[in-house]
Amino acid sequence: MGAETVNAHDKHPHVRGFGMASARSRARLVERLRGLGIDDETVLAAIEKVQRHQFVDEAMTSRAYDDTALPIGYGQTISQPYIVAQMTSLLIAEGRPENVLEIGTGSGYQAAVLAEILPSIYTVERIQPLYERARRRFAELGYRNVRARLARDGVLGLPDYGPFDAILVTAGAERLPKALYAQIADGGRMIVPVGPSGDQRLMVIYRDGANYREQALDAVSFVPLIEQRADERIG
Ligand code: SAH
Repeated sequence: MGAETVNAHDKHPHVRGFGMASARSRARLVERLRGLGIDDETVLAAIEKVQRHQFVDEAMTSRAYDDTALPIGYGQTISQPYIVAQMTSLLIAEGRPENVLEIGTGSGYQAAVLAEILPSIYTVERIQPLYERARRRFAELGYRNVRARLARDGVLGLPDYGPFDAILVTAGAERLPKALYAQIADGGRMIVPVGPSGDQRLMVIYRDGANYREQALDAVSFVPLIEQRADERIG
């Protein structure tokens, strides 16, 4: 994806010349993630490659490689790199899912990290300007294996494109999003932060035929997954 990246720089004069510095910053970020226990070399290589500064506003460029969540507008955030690395590691822990669905495109960063590793990513977002911005980034950066969709309620998934070998929810669900279970392929998994704000845990749901095994992992903190009430739904 090298050539596309250079073009993207030309279109964004504010980051022109930031290339070398950003490569060093990414190398430092990867060392930090290693120190925090991320040991999947495939994941670390993807984090080293994806230019996170392309996924935040100009004013945030200098903080793009800090290991923190950053605001992306509309009350939303780009996830902390450690969390992106952890979720991606869980997703590929036992093989390479071919068909992945992400719910909560946000900046598009997590989808780009997945796209460095896996062949096909669908990602859905409910806030139109974020969706449009992310789409533009995927095009400019050459991520042709990411398909972005605007969805009023991503909790309903994308039944027409599933089932998915893996589903990654990058917003915090109040309770387990059971509506998505049927879209997990047999043998597949879903990774989702679950719980009320201030008390969320990362959960992994493994599907084995008609059985779904739920595993609770670390405490996490995500912006809320917005579920539309049935009476608000159109069509
Ligand atoms: N993965 C993102 C971070 C996501 S922040 C990144 O790498 O930058 C969570 C995102 O989920 C927000 O953009 C929010 O608008 C979106 N979201 C919340 N509820 C949603 C829903 N029901 N359907 C689709 N997107 C949703």
